[in-house]
Amino acid sequence: MERRTEQRLVGLPVSPGIAIGNLRVEARDCSAPPIHPITEEELPGEWRRFEEALVRTEEELTTLKQRVEAISGATEAAIFDAHLLFLRDSTILGKLRNELPLRMQNIESVYYAVVQNFMEVMRAVDDPYLRSRVMDIRDVLQRVLRNMQSGEPVKRALPAGEASCILAAYELTPGDTADLDRKNVLGFVTETGSAMSHTAILARSLGLPAVVAVPRLVMDSRTGSPAILDGYEGALIINPTEETQEKYRTLRAEREKAYRELMEMRELPTVTTDGRRVHLAANVEFVHEFETIRRSGAEGVGLYRTEFLLLGTDGSMPDEEAQYEHYRKLVEECAPEEVIFRTLDAGGDKLPFEPNAEREENPALGWRGIRVSLSRPEIFKQQLRAILRASAHGKAGIMFPMVSGVTEVRRTLGLLEECREELRGRGQAYDERMRVGVMIEVPGAAMMADVLARYVDFFSIGTNDLTQYTIAVDRVNHRVASIFRVTHPGVVRLMARTIETGIPTAICGEMGGDLNLLPLLVGLGATDISVGTHLLPVVRAAIRRLDYAECKTMAQQALQAEDSMAIRALSRDLALKSYPELF
Ligand code: PEP
Ligand code: MG
Repeated sequence: MERRTEQRLVGLPVSPGIAIGNLRVEARDCSAPPIHPITEEELPGEWRRFEEALVRTEEELTTLKQRVEAISGATEAAIFDAHLLFLRDSTILGKLRNELPLRMQNIESVYYAVVQNFMEVMRAVDDPYLRSRVMDIRDVLQRVLRNMQSGEPVKRALPAGEASCILAAYELTPGDTADLDRKNVLGFVTETGSAMSHTAILARSLGLPAVVAVPRLVMDSRTGSPAILDGYEGALIINPTEETQEKYRTLRAEREKAYRELMEMRELPTVTTDGRRVHLAANVEFVHEFETIRRSGAEGVGLYRTEFLLLGTDGSMPDEEAQYEHYRKLVEECAPEEVIFRTLDAGGDKLPFEPNAEREENPALGWRGIRVSLSRPEIFKQQLRAILRASAHGKAGIMFPMVSGVTEVRRTLGLLEECREELRGRGQAYDERMRVGVMIEVPGAAMMADVLARYVDFFSIGTNDLTQYTIAVDRVNHRVASIFRVTHPGVVRLMARTIETGIPTAICGEMGGDLNLLPLLVGLGATDISVGTHLLPVVRAAIRRLDYAECKTMAQQALQAEDSMAIRALSRDLALKSYPELF
């Protein structure tokens, strides 16, 4: 019997909590083959299937090469030589030969893991040519896999209806995450990913412990192994010893007790010790979060991400009636508190809108956010009318994502006015006083905040995107995750500039939930903070321990600081002094 030793894999913690259960390993994207165990007797058959798939892929690639040669010439056709070479690459085949008897899983799943790992190594190489070869390798991989499954496209099989498990995957899209069977998945860990991705945000809002950016995860983990996922520290412990298990059971019990105690304070106002009121609201993605919103003591919804309505569709928003029903329900459930609807924020790293639209080289700088809405005015107006109509049933607000300047705001407000007129024409009610705001996520908008403030009632700073665009660090790229610094002085100064305009300004990015940084946000003068529901109790408790005057003095020092570490340290010191027990 194989002796199992405890193994600790480290990554980025993106959603707190501790999960204890068995691993279920999922490989990469929609082409990831399902994994199932095989017996000793099945091994030769598995090799035969694989060899046949290699031969079929070889024929396919050779035909392709000939066709390209006939159309474009030998130079272009030569790219398929590289494909063919990789297909029979002795390192890959050797690794597969070693891994298969160790794993005893269907050969395509092992081949998949081996090739994924190879691609990971290639991506890390400091040579643009080698890095660009990754796409070729992926192409070969997909062809082989398809040929092993008689040409049938492979569906991603996410765990459903199985015993509780910790999901370990190469990568999870926001759609995959939302599709997870919550009853059976205790938490997840991925090889790629970053804290600001929508997958991470969703994990937090679903209350699922999650760790991302764990190198070699798929390679090093096996379905069925007992494991502990530590969403606080960012670790996956495989085959934990009895002692480790005990330690985590205790830690989990302590954390749960502390959380219950904080929940008992949920009715208390969010006010600093010297009387500064901070409005504390929830970030919400799904209507079914009503119950959690209420239980967490949120003062309404500060950010409702309407693009999640795209889930499970072909990439188009539901019609006006369906959206209206949906928004009305949320407004009624939250009344008398306000629900701020953020209009469709699709594209870029988010859910795709019109997924077959043209591929973009730089999606984060491309067709996303308000740009999508403004280029589809009729579709945008359906959403505007649906939100306006919902406002008649309680208290609603509206805000626009990814705004970069006043021209977009003028056009948007023009469309909103047209919608009001249309509703009056139809005799449909809406709230004349519905507040209108813009998100400050683009440095250009922050620089123009004083002008934008003339047009709207409030701002909401999206620190995730504002950081991404200010310091040019992709929020979903795990390679640059460690330099994604929300306290970069450039970001903090833009935030201060926005808040100084004097109109109500919320923080709705993930920064609002960082206990270390609350003194800074309060000190800069944020009037509202909106965070995932699970964070509300602790954020409330923290703000209630802060002294506004002290925070203001510290924020002024922070605005003079030269680097992100210095700003973080200033805020963290005050946080540690004010609420050490909350860490
Ligand atoms: C943000 O960018 O900070 C934000 C709140 O919006 P999202 O994360 O949905 O882009
Ligand atoms: Mg954003």
